[in-house]
Amino acid sequence: MTDSDLTVAGLSVAGFNVAPGEKLATIKTITIKGHDTDLPIFLINGASGGPTLVVTAGIHGGEYPCVEAAARLGRSIDPGKLSGKMVIVPSANPIAFRARSIYITPVDGLNLNRQFPGDPEGTYTRAWADWLFNNIITAGDYYIDMHGGDMIEALIPFVSYNITGDTAVDDKAKEMAMSYGIRAVLEKEMWAVLPVPRTRRPRELVCQRS
Ligand SMILES: [Zn+2]
Repeated sequence: MTDSDLTVAGLSVAGFNVAPGEKLATIKTITIKGHDTDLPIFLINGASGGPTLVVTAGIHGGEYPCVEAAARLGRSIDPGKLSGKMVIVPSANPIAFRARSIYITPVDGLNLNRQFPGDPEGTYTRAWADWLFNNIITAGDYYIDMHGGDMIEALIPFVSYNITGDTAVDDKAKEMAMSYGIRAVLEKEMWAVLPVPRTRRPRELVCQRS
């Protein structure tokens, strides 16, 4: 948790600084492994203090509905009515978005969603994950990553959260997941990250709202 809970301070992310009560909608060009990546960013600093929420969409470049939804979210938030801060990246994998690529980033064929926290010494997608993680995602107290049925998928609406083994984090993540009002909530164990007890099946349906 940062001091943003207690004070109204500037919002400093990715080289930008936004004063309290202000919103910045911009595009930042980052060159990774020789590839220019034009990243759209909304930075919204509320008029009163509170935690920082980071929202990304389009990690999978062909999942367009969440990209549009996140862009609408960024345009709709009035910083004068906001307590806390929001960082919204509506198209977090611009090269895949422009290529209409399903699942992978065409530069190296990797799935960005499987590369976090990334590796600056890796190929493009792993280095891009590293930049996103260290400049965008870790700026937040809370994080939402929006996906959607890719171009070859048809999915029912669902929300999922990861079990990390840290009870405080897991309880808050579950609270966030349940707050959506979507009927299907999936609980996922982060098998590759933490050696959590396998008392539950992965991707177990833990809640189905009526
Ligand atoms: Zn996805």
